[in-house]
Parts: sequence; C-alpha cells; structure tokens
Amino acid sequence: MKVHVLGCHGPYPMAGGATSGYLISQSGRHILMDCGSGVMGRLLSLTDPASLSAILLSHLHFDHAADLLVMSYYLQQKGVKLPVFVPPEDESPLRQLLSPAVFQVQPYPEEMEIASIRITTCPVRHPVPCRAIRLEAEGKALVFTGDTNTCDALVPFAQDADVLLADAAFLDREWKEQLPHLSALKAAQAARDARAKRLYLTHLPVTHDRKTMEAEAAAVFPDAKAVSPGDVILL
Ligand SMILES: [Zn+2]
Repeated sequence: MKVHVLGCHGPYPMAGGATSGYLISQSGRHILMDCGSGVMGRLLSLTDPASLSAILLSHLHFDHAADLLVMSYYLQQKGVKLPVFVPPEDESPLRQLLSPAVFQVQPYPEEMEIASIRITTCPVRHPVPCRAIRLEAEGKALVFTGDTNTCDALVPFAQDADVLLADAAFLDREWKEQLPHLSALKAAQAARDARAKRLYLTHLPVTHDRKTMEAEAAAVFPDAKAVSPGDVILL
C-alpha cells in the first residue's frame, strides 16, 4: 500500500497548500481518503479523479471535504459517479450539497473491501460524527485517526498498526480535554500504547514549526514524523 500526502494542514491550508487529503494506492487502484481544500488540484497531478475506486471521508468538516464540491463539476463532465463513504451518524449540511448525480453517498458498513484493501472504521471523539479508518492489505495496516481528541476506542482500534497517521493539531501546553483534537504528545502516547510501528503527525497547524511538533512527539515515540504535502508513505 502506498500513501501520497496531498494535504496535511488544518483547519485551513498554508499558503499554496492543502488541508486533509491522502491518496491510497494498492494493486494499481486508488482510494481518496478525505478531500479538503486544495486536494483536488494535487490529486489531478497524480491520477484521474474519475478513476478512483472510492472516497472515504473521516467526517464532513470543510477542511476534510470541501473540495468534493468542485470535484462534482469534474465528475459531471466525465459522466462518472463515485461512491463516497461517510460516518453513519452524519447529519452535516455539507452532505446535502453533494450531488447524487456524481456522488453515491453512503454510510460505512461494518467492514468492506475496496481495491483489495480491507476497510474498517471506529467512532472517535470530535464535535461532529467522525471515524478513524483502518486500511489493511498484504498483511500491513494503516490507521488514520481522523479528527479526534483522546478516545478510549482509538488505541485498541490502532493496535499493531504499521503506520498510525494521527491528528496532532496542538502542542500539549495548548491542549485541553474539551478541544476537538489531539496534541503531538497525545498522538505519540496513542501510537506507543497501540504498539504502532511508525507514527506520522498530520492536521498540523500552520502556526507551528513541524520540527517542534515532531520533537514533542519524539519524547514518547522516537522517530515520529510530521508529514508534508508530497510525502509518500510505503507500507
Ligand atoms: Zn474536524
């Protein structure tokens, strides 16, 4: 499995950048995971969006789904309809804007296989319904936390992941129990507790230097890395 990082900032992009978006490739097929602001243009530089096997949304906050609105024009021109998976509990107004002519929006089933990837999800702790997503292929597992603060279900769900791609929107001194995101330190603690092999920090705030985020996480999980747009993660 190969992961192209299309965008990794939140809740808004850096200059010339993009918010949450990852292209997952396996056996010559592609899945888009999240489609935030700026993701569509970067996706076009790698593959034809009309050829995607599916789109997986962690949730429907704009920094994770906004570019689906412009992608709808592209798919309309191509005459293609794509499956879009969302948390079953979602009631976001954005969902009403996703044209049924080009998007077949549906709740995640308990388990599914797309593009030879086994996909399961787990509800996490965010102000709107949000799912962590586990993708498994050829004996390797990638777990994306989605947007979450500390969550009892996350560690067992991410158990033994080869890669944990984790929300790290704050430094720990800024973190509070009622905020919607993890800190770099808390992401690292989740990776350690889940016995993940590698940790990549994402949902990075544009206001913070990535080295500072990495250093905080590395105190608990050595070699933690903050992702950059254009990064490729191989599993
Ligand atoms: Zn969110």
